[in-house]
Amino acid sequence: MRNQGLGSWPARRARKTPQRTATIHQDRRQTYAQLNERVTRLAHALRELGVRRGDRVAYLGPNHPSFLETLFAAGLLGGVFVPLNTRLAGPEIAFQLADSGASALVYGPSHAELVDGGARAASVRAHVALAGPRPGAHGYEDLLAGAAAEPIDEPVALDETCMIMYTSGTTGRPKGAALTHGNITWNAINVLVDHDLLADEVALVSAPLFHTAGLNMLTLPVLLKGGCCVLVPGFDADGTLDLIERHRVTFMFGVPTMFRQVARSPRWAAADLSSVRLLTCGGAPVPPSLIAAYAERGLTFLQGYGMTEAAPGTLFLDAGHATAKAGSAGVPHFFSDVRVVGPDLTEVAPGETGEVIVSGPHVMPGYWGLPEETAAVFTDGWFHTGDAARIDEDGYAYIVDRMKDMIISGGENVSPAEIEKAVLADPDVLDCAVIGVPDPTWGEVGRAVVVARPGSGLTERRVLDGLAGRMAKYKIPKSVVFADELPRNAAGKVLKSVLRGTYGDR
Ligand code: ATP
Ligand code: MG
Repeated sequence: MRNQGLGSWPARRARKTPQRTATIHQDRRQTYAQLNERVTRLAHALRELGVRRGDRVAYLGPNHPSFLETLFAAGLLGGVFVPLNTRLAGPEIAFQLADSGASALVYGPSHAELVDGGARAASVRAHVALAGPRPGAHGYEDLLAGAAAEPIDEPVALDETCMIMYTSGTTGRPKGAALTHGNITWNAINVLVDHDLLADEVALVSAPLFHTAGLNMLTLPVLLKGGCCVLVPGFDADGTLDLIERHRVTFMFGVPTMFRQVARSPRWAAADLSSVRLLTCGGAPVPPSLIAAYAERGLTFLQGYGMTEAAPGTLFLDAGHATAKAGSAGVPHFFSDVRVVGPDLTEVAPGETGEVIVSGPHVMPGYWGLPEETAAVFTDGWFHTGDAARIDEDGYAYIVDRMKDMIISGGENVSPAEIEKAVLADPDVLDCAVIGVPDPTWGEVGRAVVVARPGSGLTERRVLDGLAGRMAKYKIPKSVVFADELPRNAAGKVLKSVLRGTYGDR
């Protein structure tokens, strides 16, 4: 095949394992042969609608086989896939459509009203609705039924852009990471090597496909290996346990809050988890209590650290080290190189804090349409993650915080994440974020923004007294303000820049 990219994966799989199940969605199974046929038809249809090499094809909807069909079909034509976050508001969707210059948009019934109601961009010439033909939009299934099924083999190289994936927008406006076919492929190989995936894996995909983790750490590696993906449109704890039993799920990915909810389900104690072999957890360290709850059921966690720009797998902690290296994000993936450096770019000594930089075949060449931002985050091929970390004597990395959020108080580095964890230990604290505010004596001091449990009567004094003696004095915030809720982005991450704007200089 001349196509070396992701677009060729369904055809390669159909050649090797045509009758194996590729996806299950609401009890409908799709084999690799069927997936290949639908992808080919969709590619013909998109070509009829004017999609050409390099054109962007966006997708907006919850987890569904058509998400993967659109990704692969765009890849067959040498096009670029743009997954959109379903939790974004209309103007944010319109921005990402315009920013990526998408010429086609495939959207699910959940977003029909929004898109038909005007969340559109001038660049989008072809709208394709999963819900069927609508005014100004083609029906997805109609297009497939009317399209040719002859194989397509456009030459596509690994260094061509495969998808534009937007970062979560925690530190600013989301930026489009332009990931190549090679980036995604090498990331998938890192997952296969370091997570020991098998050919008969049954993955439960309840994490959203539009996020780098659900797509690149779970779904695509499993499809590369010929396993089966159970696509779940939304996460819920009881539903998760049902699906594990019904489909004999072997592999799951989630963030700590998802795993916590599953363990708190009334069905947890009686659920049959004997098929589960691999649990991977990313985005934040797994708390020891969660590790203990799953260990009781004979289950261990593999943990990961990464970012959209690195497609995303960068560091991982294998289950065998989950307790001995608790709180660590682990060691670099097989084809990933990671250093923790000071401002002069030399590696800091073990135990010292520096910035994480990463290089490898999984790291994006740059942001879409942002040459200055791209130049600002690369030095000699090393990508600056903006995350602060330290490395222990054995080479295990501990993510401390984001560099931008670190507080420098009297010359000492203070990690808001460490203080937040301590404040959150109080059951009357529902949520907490710590920011730095200017101080004439110390340069900067911490201020805790706290969401208290209603009716708890929590006071500033009580929050601060609760920290005394538990951490060095210079780390303890000098003030506490109370808020009804914390501003979060669509990925659920606290927007510290917004907090600094609201509570920064009072
Ligand atoms: P933006 O780049 O737009 O500000 P973002 O960095 O939140 O948003 P993502 O690429 O979704 O966008 O998230 C990557 C970031 O998430 C990492 O840079 C890091 O700060 C954080 N992160 C990921 N995994 C872990 C982990 N295991 N432990 C701690 N932090 C993590
Ligand atoms: Mg980021």
